Amino acid sequence: MIPRPHGGRLVSRLLSDPDRARREAELDDMMRLHPGVDAIYDAEKIGLGAYSPLEGFMNRTTLDSVLSTGRLPNELPWSIPILLAPAGRENDKVVASARAGDSIALLDASERPFAVLQLEEKFPYDRTAVARTTYGTTDPAHPNVADLQAAGEVALGGRIDLLRRLDLPTGPLELSPSESRAAFERRGWKNVAAYQCRNPPHTAHEYLQRLTLEREDVDALFIQPVVGRLKKGDYRPEIILQAYEALVRHYHPSDRVMLASLSITMRYAGPKAALFLAIVRKNFGCSHYIVGRDQAGVGTYYDPYAAHRIFDEYPIGIQPLRYEETFYCRSCGWMATKKTCPHPATDRLDTSQTRIRKALAEGIDPPTELLRPEVAKVLRQPNVLLES
Ligand SMILES: [Zn+2]
Repeated sequence: MIPRPHGGRLVSRLLSDPDRARREAELDDMMRLHPGVDAIYDAEKIGLGAYSPLEGFMNRTTLDSVLSTGRLPNELPWSIPILLAPAGRENDKVVASARAGDSIALLDASERPFAVLQLEEKFPYDRTAVARTTYGTTDPAHPNVADLQAAGEVALGGRIDLLRRLDLPTGPLELSPSESRAAFERRGWKNVAAYQCRNPPHTAHEYLQRLTLEREDVDALFIQPVVGRLKKGDYRPEIILQAYEALVRHYHPSDRVMLASLSITMRYAGPKAALFLAIVRKNFGCSHYIVGRDQAGVGTYYDPYAAHRIFDEYPIGIQPLRYEETFYCRSCGWMATKKTCPHPATDRLDTSQTRIRKALAEGIDPPTELLRPEVAKVLRQPNVLLES
């Protein structure tokens, strides 16, 4: 069945036309805040219900509850703090003068108001504690820890009124939860498995998708790469999407696979990120969630299978599909996992993205056992990586 959203109800803070007109007429009297790209994405996703049951940025009670128990104050599992803590001198002035009850206009990257924060509480918070609890480290080499260290020291909690959706480069691929749910219903899909990713697909990814499509309890696959803000050295969002479009077009049955983008900032929090990303996919209407090896990890901060175990500790009403590491084995001449292949690890093709990137950069096409030629063609284009 298409599951109910986390908390039972899909949040919608996108204002209706008359409400928006009323809000927009008040904008001139409001303070204006530059939330920063991460919070811009978060504010929109809150407004569209992707983070249901959150209706706004977290207040102190909610943050403390998430940090100390991994749950919201109403006991629902929730693993990642969603905070509005803008930095910078202009923002500091706004934060200093803001009072509970104020309405504050949030500006998008082109300085246009796109949402209004109903300030409920402003509060100092411990950035080190947030880093340690969420990411398990305070190492500034961790990309999200570095972000936290650069964030403001005071957080603004309160509900969001979304004036309009963001104008994103992902265009029509960027669905809202109500749109994906409607699309699943139109197609008659009840059990949809979500595939989380942030890298272009190689054959080990495709194999996971195929294993999932073979299950009799899965009607369809929802491939939804996170493409909002990634880290330096990752592929550019449009490249990831082009690579997936090539895979889906040439190798997946079009009546059982849907591709969409998810523009949010990637939290490389290993198991906690996996849980958060699964909650988001439940809100998009998915009943199953694929968890491979080292999901949402970075460096060597996380046990590669911790993301499998967290779903036992925090059942969230989406069925995790846990898979071992998938690979191409030369001796088997096939895709496999440890469960199906008896050969030593030296027989496996190296699926490291770093290795694939390097080969492509040197003009060498990785073997088709590793990368589909249609995907390789996308990745061979110049300037495919993020430089900052
Ligand atoms: Zn083998």
